[in-house]
Amino acid sequence: MNLIFLGPPGAGKGTVAQQVTEKLGVVQISTGDLLRAAVRAGSELGVKAKGYMDAGELVPDDLVIALLKERIARPDCERGAIMDGFPRTIPQAEALEKAEVPVDRVINFNLPDDVIIHRLSGRRVHRSSGAIYSINSDGVPQPGPDVNPDDLYQRDDDKPEAIRNRLVVYRKQTEPLIDFYRQRGLLSDIDAAQPLEGMISDTLAATGSQG
Ligand code: AMP
Repeated sequence: MNLIFLGPPGAGKGTVAQQVTEKLGVVQISTGDLLRAAVRAGSELGVKAKGYMDAGELVPDDLVIALLKERIARPDCERGAIMDGFPRTIPQAEALEKAEVPVDRVINFNLPDDVIIHRLSGRRVHRSSGAIYSINSDGVPQPGPDVNPDDLYQRDDDKPEAIRNRLVVYRKQTEPLIDFYRQRGLLSDIDAAQPLEGMISDTLAATGSQG
């Protein structure tokens, strides 16, 4: 089963993906995570992608399409994958169709702009595990006080200027995919403003699995 998680940055796509892969027996493919790994490794792709990412712009289609195709062809994707953050443009979606990657369902995470901005500006990433946390006004990571705040960092693109740009980019370049997949009868809308448990069960229900 191949799924696409569509929605604005900060809607919880990555967090929900991490929680449902095991239950669905699929792997998570986050093009954002793959690109950040390429930047850290200093590879040719990473060098090309970094400037776009830091500015909150999309990395050019040809680079991201090649990355996704290479990843989804690996043996661990045989039972299926959640594409988290791909496609983000109509040409990327068309490339998936051209490559004959079947898509079973597209989960569209809906979230208003003010909630997105609030979530992204409080988002922190755990340096070694990559786990996502949210800081409240006291600077305490959620969930749990056992995480050392010094082990958390803020993504460059979660800073205010880049957040605003990512939202503009989302509305302009990615939102047209909602109609693209609705026309194909593949779209399921979920409310991304609800607590995580609700998002997980709505996602599983949309895929025909039990919540
Ligand atoms: P994400 O972690 O999904 O928010 O992605 C972080 C950044 O990586 C985005 O703001 C883009 O610069 C880049 N990126 C990730 N996925 C894609 C994609 N499918 N197309 C173009 N750029 C992407």
